[in-house]
Amino acid sequence: MEKWDLVVVGGGAAGFFCAINAAARQPGLKVCILEKTGKLLTKVAVSGGGRCNVTHACFDIDTLSRRYPRGTNFLRKAFHHFNPKDTIEWFRERGVELKTEEDGRMFPVSNTSSTIVQCLLQEASRHQVHIELNQEIVSLNFVDGSWKLQSAKGRTYQTPKVCLAQGD
Ligand SMILES: Cc1cc2nc3c(=O)[nH]c(=O)nc-3n(C[C@H](O)[C@H](O)[C@H](O)COP(=O)(O)OP(=O)(O)OC[C@H]3O[C@@H](n4cnc5c(N)ncnc54)[C@H](O)[C@@H]3O)c2cc1C
Repeated sequence: MEKWDLVVVGGGAAGFFCAINAAARQPGLKVCILEKTGKLLTKVAVSGGGRCNVTHACFDIDTLSRRYPRGTNFLRKAFHHFNPKDTIEWFRERGVELKTEEDGRMFPVSNTSSTIVQCLLQEASRHQVHIELNQEIVSLNFVDGSWKLQSAKGRTYQTPKVCLAQGD
C-alpha cells in the first residue's frame, strides 16, 4: 500500500491546481495525482477553442457571482478566497501573462492553451507532485482514521487527505 499526505483523484485543471498549491504551501508534503486515462489536462488543452479562456476581466465579486444565478452565493464566498485578480497574479508569478479581449475574456498572450498546460505541468514537477497515469480509482473508504483508495488495477493508496477532482 502506498502512503501519501494528499491524494488527488483526477489530472485535470482542478486536480492540478489543488495538488500544486498544496505542495507549494507545505514543502515536503507528499502529493500524488491519480489519473484514469493516459493523458493529463486534456480539457484544458481544448478549452477556449485551443486558446484557453483562463478567466474574465470582471473584478467586482458581486457582479461576477451574479453571472451564474444558480450558484451566486457559493461563488461569492469562493471568489472572496480566490478571484480573477488572484488567477492573473498566480499565472504572472509563473511567467504566464494574460491578455483581455474586447468582451472581457482573458487568454494567455501566446494565444495557445499549451502555455497553460505547460505551466501546470512544470509547476507540478517543480513541487515534486507525483503523477500516475492509467490509474482509475474505483473505491474510496475511510478506515481507521485514513482514506483508502483502490484503483481498477488493484493498487491501493492510503492518505489522511483526499481531493476528488474527477470532473463531471
Ligand atoms: C470544448 C471545451 C471548451 C472549454 N473551454 C473553456 C474555457 O475556455 N475556459 C474555461 O474556463 N473552461 C472551459 N471549459 C470547461 C473546462 O475545460 C472545465 O470546466 C475544466 O477543464 C474542468 O476541470 P476539472 O479538473 O474539474 O475536470 P476534468 O478536466 O474533466 O478532469 C477530471 C479528470 O479526472 C479523471 N478521472 C475521472 N474519474 C476518475 C477516476 N475514477 N480515477 C482517476 N481519474 C479520474 C478524468 O479522466 C479527467 O482527466 C471547456 C470545456 C470543453 C469541453
